[in-house]
Amino acid sequence: MSQTYAVIAETREGKLRQVTFEAIEAARRAQQGKAAVAAVLIGHQVTELAEELARYVDGPVQVVDRPKLAAYHAEATFQAAIAALNGLNPSAVFLGHTAIGRDLAPMIAARLEAGQISDVTAIEHAGGDTIYVRPLYAGKAFERKRFAENPDGTQIVTVRPNNFPAAEPLPSSGPVVTSSETPLPNLRSAVKEIVRKTSGKIDLTEAKIVVSGGRGVKSAEGFRPLERLAEVLNAAVGASRAACDAGYCDYAMQIGQTGKVVTPEIYIACGISGAIQHLAGMSQSRIIIAINKDPEAPIFKVADYGIVGDLFEVVPLLTEELEKA
Ligand code: FAD
Repeated sequence: MSQTYAVIAETREGKLRQVTFEAIEAARRAQQGKAAVAAVLIGHQVTELAEELARYVDGPVQVVDRPKLAAYHAEATFQAAIAALNGLNPSAVFLGHTAIGRDLAPMIAARLEAGQISDVTAIEHAGGDTIYVRPLYAGKAFERKRFAENPDGTQIVTVRPNNFPAAEPLPSSGPVVTSSETPLPNLRSAVKEIVRKTSGKIDLTEAKIVVSGGRGVKSAEGFRPLERLAEVLNAAVGASRAACDAGYCDYAMQIGQTGKVVTPEIYIACGISGAIQHLAGMSQSRIIIAINKDPEAPIFKVADYGIVGDLFEVVPLLTEELEKA
């Protein structure tokens, strides 16, 4: 195989993020036997993670290991990524469509003069072309795109979390190539500390189930029944912007056009009307359950199951029944 498709791995709190394995699966599906799939791992003291990653790729794992890369830093991580990619000379680069991927991918595309297709949810093959499918207008339409013919051009693809299955490990591991010499010149800032606001809670963008609250929750206290339900379901808790604006919860929980995009197996919307800007962040969820006391609420148009009722009655009842199960 003469070509390489590279996946830029993402880590959080000493672990490889789920989206990394999904991006590897996307790269496998895109390459169609034409290319080896390699990985780039950027961080500090990541030897064990590199070995884990190597079990999923048939190309090398190119590691850039420096103290300055312990936390994501736009300039430093970008420079490290470019150094690693230069070593691999990939025809395509895959990243998660996460906060980090969305930051890094356009910088890499600009530096490599590469084309970019973002927020891909499926990959198809037609007439020898690889077609990347991405949702538009809050999932109301889909766009099918392919890269223009350019045998020398690199292709950058970002993959929406929770849309591709995580790659399965391969029978043998790819080699790990570590560089601790990569220069990181002229950094104009440094990360001093990362303070987590939602400690102990499940990552919203990776959660299989999300319980979300809107203005109908009425107060910070009103989120408690939702948190109880989330605990029972091992779910993450999200919110509409109205709930965040009202100070009921942290903006880190906001789902929608200007918040996070989630695609869980089950999304439970409680006291959320279903504004288009909210749908932009959750309409691709596999099953949508809406609890709203207004039978005319637009959320019921996208919901697979709807419960017309007061969330303060329905949510505790649901929790009680699920606890028995
Ligand atoms: P509301 O629309 O007020 O709906 C509250 C719902 O709760 C109602 O349907 C009501 O029937 C129901 N309810 C009330 N009490 C109960 C009860 N006891 N039991 C059951 N149901 C009850 N919004 C986002 O969410 N995410 C975004 O990222 C986002 N980005 C935006 C970007 C822009 C540029 C703009 C202009 C807006 C954006 N918005 C976003 C705001 C969006 O337009 C809506 O205002 C917001 O989503 C409404 O939130 P909500 O559904 O919680 O509130």
